[in-house]
Amino acid sequence: MAMASRLRARVVLSRCEWSNLRSLLRPSLNRGFSSSSIPSHLERVGFIGLGNMGFHMASNLITAGYKITVHDINYNALKKFSEKGIPAKETPCEVAESSDVIITMLPSSSNVLDVYTGRNGLLHCRSHLSPWLFIDSSTIDPQTSRMLSTNISKCLLKEKKGFANNPLMLDAPVSGGVPAAQAGTLTFMVGGLEEAYLAAKPLFLSMGKQTIYCGSSGNGAAAKICNNLAMAVSMLGVSEAFVLGQHLGITASTLTKIFNSSSARCWSSDSYNPVPGIMEGVPSSRNYDGGFTSKLMAKDLTLAVSSAAEIGLKCPLTSEARDIYMELCEKGYDSKDFSCVFRHYYSGLAAFVRRSPISYAVQARFLKQQCCPIIMQA
Ligand code: NAD
Repeated sequence: MAMASRLRARVVLSRCEWSNLRSLLRPSLNRGFSSSSIPSHLERVGFIGLGNMGFHMASNLITAGYKITVHDINYNALKKFSEKGIPAKETPCEVAESSDVIITMLPSSSNVLDVYTGRNGLLHCRSHLSPWLFIDSSTIDPQTSRMLSTNISKCLLKEKKGFANNPLMLDAPVSGGVPAAQAGTLTFMVGGLEEAYLAAKPLFLSMGKQTIYCGSSGNGAAAKICNNLAMAVSMLGVSEAFVLGQHLGITASTLTKIFNSSSARCWSSDSYNPVPGIMEGVPSSRNYDGGFTSKLMAKDLTLAVSSAAEIGLKCPLTSEARDIYMELCEKGYDSKDFSCVFRHYYSGLAAFVRRSPISYAVQARFLKQQCCPIIMQA
């Protein structure tokens, strides 16, 4: 008898768990879930920064049923929303007045500071803020994220919402680029109070497919910088190796086959190959248009260099990579995808162009001229 009731309890518990699981998973189904399933503390979302990424992220939130208010300094970006009847405001402060949560998606730290602490900024009414949560998805330095988070936690809420007694901030930069922003498949790296992260998860899952909690405030920003640093160095390494291979008489397509089935395999070789003519649907196959610009990569590497300098960490590849991307920008390739380093820094050839092997003397000169900074650093 006791055994039977224990079994019954187990079945009841399992049903409970199943229903909890279902309600947790529901937002991840994302498109088309009804606004009635949106928790009241997340209902009204203010979105600021409607550029390449923000436009799609805000659009996905609208599709998911959130009540969105938007702001951007660019009139044309704003018009795309106001024409659809989405409330558009002239200042961040006005957006804050009608929002439970604010999401910012801005180019750099100075823009973020402007929007938060500038004249008519989000924190203008610091003694009675409407939003209980501020989420910054821009890629900025961890120090600015931490400073803002501390400032925000010292402000007061107009009325208590959810569990929060004071307004809170999460830094939640994203990985995935414009195609993932459009498809709603971004990955969010989140720093800040864990309860706030859990409460905001439905919002993240309406714009992305994965969220990773990184720990305290600023850690999301730190994770993003580290991710992009590794991505830049691997792109440079792969590009440099392909170009050296081409000079030695091995085609990039042969090298790609070798890399992708051996230890050099990485995202830059198997998913985002920088050599024109190897893969379809990547920026290298469309003259490096679209994708993640060299300008943004130079910015992220600059953030990594200054973060390393601040703690006295020696990071030679970071500095070298930053210099290469700065040079590309100065040469006018700032708006091209960052994989254009293969073509416009190393002068690599498209897969369909054949180069005959060069002599040992020329190979030696090629290396001495430091055309291959990553080889020289290593
Ligand atoms: P973007 O330049 O296309 O868009 C930024 C938007 O912010 C613009 O519409 C601009 O008018 C607006 N803006 C700038 N200052 C403002 C201010 N003071 N007030 C209101 N609006 C302001 O940039 P993006 O490509 O959308 O990138 C946004 C952030 O996301 C950046 O930090 C970037 O590093 C990061 N990111 C971008 C990608 C990508 O592939 N584009 C990928 C991952 C992360």
